[in-house]
Amino acid sequence: MSHSLPSDVFPLGIATKILFDDNAITAVSSDFGGIIVGRRPLGVFCPWSEDDIVQLVRSAYESPKPFSITARGRGHSDSGQSVSTGGITIDMRSLATGAQRIRIRVSSENGYSPYVDVGAEQLWSEVMLETLKNGLSPRTLLDYMDLTVGGTLSVGGLSGQAFRYGPQVRNVHELDVITGKGELVTCSKKHNSDLFFSALGGLGQFGIITRARIALQPAPTKVKWVGLVYTDFEAFTGDEEYLITLDGTTGKKKGFNYIEGFVFLDHNQVSSPFFSDEEVAKISAVTSEHGGAYFIEGAIYYSDDTAFTIDQEVESILEGLHYTKGFKFIRELSYTGFVDRVQCEEEKLRRVGLWDIPHPWLNLLVPKSRIHDFHEGVFKGVFKQGNTMGVILIYPLGKNKWDERMSLVFPEEEVFYKIGLLLSSFPVNLGCVLRQRDEVLRFCEKNKIEAKQYLPHYKKIEDWMKHFGSKWDRFVEMKKKYDPKAILAPGQCIFSSPLV
Ligand code: FAD
Repeated sequence: MSHSLPSDVFPLGIATKILFDDNAITAVSSDFGGIIVGRRPLGVFCPWSEDDIVQLVRSAYESPKPFSITARGRGHSDSGQSVSTGGITIDMRSLATGAQRIRIRVSSENGYSPYVDVGAEQLWSEVMLETLKNGLSPRTLLDYMDLTVGGTLSVGGLSGQAFRYGPQVRNVHELDVITGKGELVTCSKKHNSDLFFSALGGLGQFGIITRARIALQPAPTKVKWVGLVYTDFEAFTGDEEYLITLDGTTGKKKGFNYIEGFVFLDHNQVSSPFFSDEEVAKISAVTSEHGGAYFIEGAIYYSDDTAFTIDQEVESILEGLHYTKGFKFIRELSYTGFVDRVQCEEEKLRRVGLWDIPHPWLNLLVPKSRIHDFHEGVFKGVFKQGNTMGVILIYPLGKNKWDERMSLVFPEEEVFYKIGLLLSSFPVNLGCVLRQRDEVLRFCEKNKIEAKQYLPHYKKIEDWMKHFGSKWDRFVEMKKKYDPKAILAPGQCIFSSPLV
C-alpha cells in the first residue's frame, strides 16, 4: 500500500477537498481510546457529497499504487480503528456540514411501518431529534448518542434495548454502500444481500456506508427509571436473566423496555446521573461493606394515556426480584432526559478534565454458562485491588434477536452477557490498566471461556481468524469481492495487503 501519493492521482474536484495541513492531520491521528497516537494519514478528505467519496475511492482503486482510505465518523473507536498511517482519512462529518446539510428523512405513511433514511455521517442524537418531531424513535439506541450511524452500524450498536430488538444492525432495512472498487451499491435483505449482511458489523471492510434506512417505532414521552442494588452476584444475574425473558413476546407479562447491569467494584464507581448525593453515599457504604455491589438499571416507557397504570406495571415487574432490601430507586423522567443521560455525564467529566484521557476499553460477549467463572476470575481476581476508574457493564442478551448472516460475531449459546470494561486511566497508569486488560483476555483463554470481543482489536491474522471462526472464509470471500485491493479501514488491522 502506497504511503505517498503522486500529485496527479486525484481528479481536480477531489484534490481541492483534501486538507494536508498539520492541524487537520493531527486532529485525526488518534481516537477516543487515546492508546494509539501519532498514526498520521497523508491528508484529510472533506466530501460534500456521496459522489465525492465515489471519486476518491475510484482514484485509489485505479491508481497503480493504491492508497488506503479510512472513513472516520466521530473517531470514538478505542484502539485506533478509525486512525491510519498514510493514505487518506475521510471526515464523514463534512457531509453533515457541507452542501447537503442534514440528511435525515422520516417516512411514516399510514399502513406502513415507519422508518428513517439517514446519511451515515449523522449522529444518532441528530437522528433522534428529527424522528421525535414525528413522534417516532429508533428501537435500539446507544448509551451515548453522539456517535455516527455509519460508525455504529460498522460495529453492531448495542444498548439496553437490544434484549428486545437486537443490536442496531438488526433494525436496518437498506444501505447505500460505496465498495472498495468505488461502486455505489444499494443493498438490503433482498437485493445485493451479500453486501448488506457483510457491511453490517463488518468493521468497514467491504465499503463505506453512506445511507441507512432504519426502522422506527412510536416514541414514548416518559420513562420510569428503576435502579436495584444487589450484593449477591447469583441473585443479580438470576434477576437479569429473568427480566430479559419479559421481552414483549405474546403471552408474557410486560417487562422493561431497557435493561442494563453494572458492577461497582468499589465505592469510587457508584455513579448514575439519577442518584442523589445521599443515595450515592448509601450505596457506597454497602459497596465498601461487601467488597463490591451490582446494579440493575431498568426503564419502562409510557405516555400520558398510559400513565395511570404505570406504577402497577412497575410493581408487577419487580414482584419476586431479589434486590437488597431498601435499595430500590425509582424516577420519573422525560424520554429525552433518559436518552441524553450519558451526554450529561460527558459534560460533568469534561468539567473536571476526565473525558479526554486514555480509555483502554475492553468489550466482551461472554456465554451465560461461564459468567460465574468470569466473575470469580475477573471481578474478584484481576480487579480485586479496587481503585478502578470507569464503568463496568454486565447485562444478558438473547441470541434469538441477532442475525447469523451479518458479519457481527457473537457466542454460540442462546444467552450471553455483554461485558463492558469501560475503563479510563491517567496517562501515567495506562501501562498498568493495559496489563489488567490483557490479563482478562488471558484468563478467558486459559479457562476456555469462549468470549467474543465486541469492538474487537487484534494485531495478528490468526487472532482474527479465531475471532470470526466459521464466518472467516465468508469474510475473506466478501473482502475479495468488494475490496480486493484492501483499501478500506486499515485501522482495523485485518488485511494489510491486496487479496488479488
Ligand atoms: P469511528 O470511530 O470514527 O469509526 C469506527 C470504525 O468504523 C472505523 O474502522 C471506521 O473506518 C469505520 N467507519 C466509520 N464510519 C463508517 C462508515 N460510514 N462506513 C463504513 N465504515 C465506517 N457502542 C455501542 O454499541 N453502544 C454504546 O452504547 C456505545 N457507547 C459508546 C460511548 C462512548 C463514549 C464511546 C467512546 C463509544 C461508545 N460505543 C458504543 C462504541 C462505538 O459504537 C464505536 O466505537 C463506534 O465505531 C464509534 O462510532 P464513530 O462514529 O466514532 O466511528
